[in-house]
Amino acid sequence: MIRRDYSKPAEGVKYIFITGGVVSSLGKGISASALGMLLKSRGLTVTIMKFDPYLNVDPGTMNPLQHGEVYVTDDGAETDLDLGHYERFLDESLSQDNNVTTGRIYNTIISKERRGDYLGATVQVVPHVTDEIKSSLVRLTLKRRVDVVISEIGGTVGDIEGLPFLEAIRQFGLDLGRKNVLYIHVTMVPYLESSGELKTKPTQHSVKTLSEIGIQPDILICRTSRYSLSEELKQKIALFCNVSPGAVIEARDVESIYEVPLLLHSQGLDQLAIDHLGLETGKPHLSSWTKMVRRSLNSRRSLEIAICGKYVDLADSYKSINEAFVHAGIANDVKINLNWVDTEKINRYTAKRQLSRYAGILIPGGFGYRGIEGKLESIRYARLNKVPMFGICLGLQCAIVEFARNVCGIAGAGSTEFDPDTPEPVISLMPDQTEVTEKGGTMRLGAYPCELAEGSLASRIYGIGHIEERHRHRYEVSNRYRAQLAARGMVFSGLSPNGRLIEIIELKNHPWFLGCQFHPEFKSRPMRPHPLFRDFVAAALRFNENRQKVE
Ligand code: GLN
Repeated sequence: MIRRDYSKPAEGVKYIFITGGVVSSLGKGISASALGMLLKSRGLTVTIMKFDPYLNVDPGTMNPLQHGEVYVTDDGAETDLDLGHYERFLDESLSQDNNVTTGRIYNTIISKERRGDYLGATVQVVPHVTDEIKSSLVRLTLKRRVDVVISEIGGTVGDIEGLPFLEAIRQFGLDLGRKNVLYIHVTMVPYLESSGELKTKPTQHSVKTLSEIGIQPDILICRTSRYSLSEELKQKIALFCNVSPGAVIEARDVESIYEVPLLLHSQGLDQLAIDHLGLETGKPHLSSWTKMVRRSLNSRRSLEIAICGKYVDLADSYKSINEAFVHAGIANDVKINLNWVDTEKINRYTAKRQLSRYAGILIPGGFGYRGIEGKLESIRYARLNKVPMFGICLGLQCAIVEFARNVCGIAGAGSTEFDPDTPEPVISLMPDQTEVTEKGGTMRLGAYPCELAEGSLASRIYGIGHIEERHRHRYEVSNRYRAQLAARGMVFSGLSPNGRLIEIIELKNHPWFLGCQFHPEFKSRPMRPHPLFRDFVAAALRFNENRQKVE
């Protein structure tokens, strides 16, 4: 007998699975987020999770320049950047249970096997891997009551590594009954310039591949870039793909991702889901979201901000920072243009020429020595010219090194991350990191409390004395340099409750110069912009206005 190791979810929980076909990067994550937001706006409790078919246990060890940003949750999980979209659209904090990789599934199974949990059995993809996948779907409903679980399957239908996930969600549909499970397939309908036509064949093939696995999608979301799907094409897709014509939804490119829920709603996506799943809800409440989208599209002013870091050519590497600026822009009624400035090409003599057109400078988080000297020069430029300067994580650490070297006269100041033998380690490994050798999941991760100093810029911005922010780092400011730095005007305005860790720094005699050891970008939401980003943008606007007056 096969010993099954999976229990069904609580009665009444509905599941929506989102797969992708034809090509990757179709925006499955945005589709999942948008649908989640629509269902939540109807009063349902919704959670969204992602399955990633790669073998890493989590994306924390992957290169963000290839894979995109590593998103950190409150509970300290290093997750896929789609979790960031889920949190921003749902306006809720998710947890490590919301991102499950093949690596994690196998890790669990192999530990169980070694422990003897399967004694006597041959451990196999079906049923052991598929049961473990199904267990992770059920786990999301154990801690709190959830009406709908939306689950995105990473990758593209047809990928070898995605098969166990597709098999698991197929079984799940059988286990729970088709009224409780909805399958949505996101595909692409490309436009052929030469014939001037939208082509449906790739979608047909992709749905065929999915059907061979045993999954018949209920709804198709078709990405059509700039073009519109005619009624005739919808009928054709419906006929060949075995869905009703009303269930073929067009998803054209839009200016702002926050428009997507409104577009999908206008085509009845949420209603289709509700009807299929037999859910009873009221109408969605979309007026404040609609207002927010309108504001984001209609702002007439624009502002140039520089992000100074080592060169990255993947826009997704700093996804949450980009989004946090979108939110801060909406709050300040201005469109923010983010300009990437490669710090490997900045030095003391070129800094002014390269940076003088920007109203604010942001130094993002990062790892390693490449581009550091240019970051220090960018910070020096901002400090001396009173340009608003915002340093995040590595950005704070660089601000400390710059200040120590150029203001406190500690010429050899450095970080042990860049040079283990630096004579003046103003930044060094946190004490509890010194024995750590494993790289996966071992940084200081997740939300930690921080007390703000009264009268500081930080406490004015937050308007409260106690905050919690998310971290992802190994190094910190060395306490033995505190007095020297403070004597020259550096303020430690955010500290861990025991006073030992410096979480926020700022400068006296500068209108807006702030560094934080945490990553505020992870908690920014379109309707609740992060206070630090909102205020940094406000300061940059003031800087710009004053500059124009002088000119
Ligand atoms: N590399 C630095 C550290 O580990 C900063 C990390 C970051 O910017 N996220 O402390």
